[in-house]
Amino acid sequence: MSLDNHWFTEPVEQTGTAFSLKLGERVHAEATPYQKIEIYRTETFGYLMTIDGCTMVSTRDNFLYHEMMSHPVLNSHPNPRDVVIVGGGDCGTLREVLKHPEVKTATQVEIDERVTRLSEQYFPELCVANGDPRATLFFGDGIAWMKEATPESLDLIIIDSTDPVGPAEGLFGRKFYLDCVQALRPGGLLIQQSESPLLHLPLITEMHKFMREAGFAQTRLLHFPQVIYPSGWWSGSIAQKTAGPLAERLDPAMIDALGAQFYNADTHRAAFALPTFVKKALGI
Ligand code: SAM
Repeated sequence: MSLDNHWFTEPVEQTGTAFSLKLGERVHAEATPYQKIEIYRTETFGYLMTIDGCTMVSTRDNFLYHEMMSHPVLNSHPNPRDVVIVGGGDCGTLREVLKHPEVKTATQVEIDERVTRLSEQYFPELCVANGDPRATLFFGDGIAWMKEATPESLDLIIIDSTDPVGPAEGLFGRKFYLDCVQALRPGGLLIQQSESPLLHLPLITEMHKFMREAGFAQTRLLHFPQVIYPSGWWSGSIAQKTAGPLAERLDPAMIDALGAQFYNADTHRAAFALPTFVKKALGI
């Protein structure tokens, strides 16, 4: 990360890309036992949170990611009662999940409590559902939590983690996926943020391979814009415990009630429509 007087820049050596936002100023920085968290006030994107120099969430564009990492997969399950979010410390995904009345429990397993406390301070709009009686905020390692999860106790797992390095690295491997398969009920679904289809296709194909080797019957990819992440084009990898078509609960009144800015029946369907090069790489 380089920081001159007026710009925040996240250079990514591996992909030869960079992303910048015009500043304001850096308003907070701290090193937790897990990572370095910084908060910037930007000129046009509101606040920006970074973790270890990587963009995480901005006031202006987080709706793209939080809506598309929650609503498509929730509406692809016939009755998602019990949901776990691994990571997601900014609480934006939790807020979207709890907009679904069919959800009875939503447990967020975030390793670093400081992410949530800083989100409460700088992104309070993402934390408005934290007090929902259905919500549980658990602070600990998602890998350990899933190992101890009661078999067949979950309908949906959302892995909203940082990139596959540091504490998040183990969230992208077979062993973790094995524990996820066991924790899911028949018909259960998992979605994991799976980086950029343009820049990270080898990682995505490896994730799908590991998911299937761990016992998931079928995998799919959905994609959506996400401005502050490398390439501005992001993805979620979906794994199904049971093979077959996904449900498609797209009742117009239900969708309107979500009050989403990006998600609707059209963007739901479009998210699953894959480019040729991605289909070929995934063999689907
Ligand atoms: N939307 C962001 C993205 O795609 O990069 C991620 C949002 S959220 C800030 C990512 C969270 O994953 C961080 O708060 C981080 O602390 C958490 N995390 C990383 N590894 C974890 C683990 N093993 N268990 C639980 N949370 C973890």
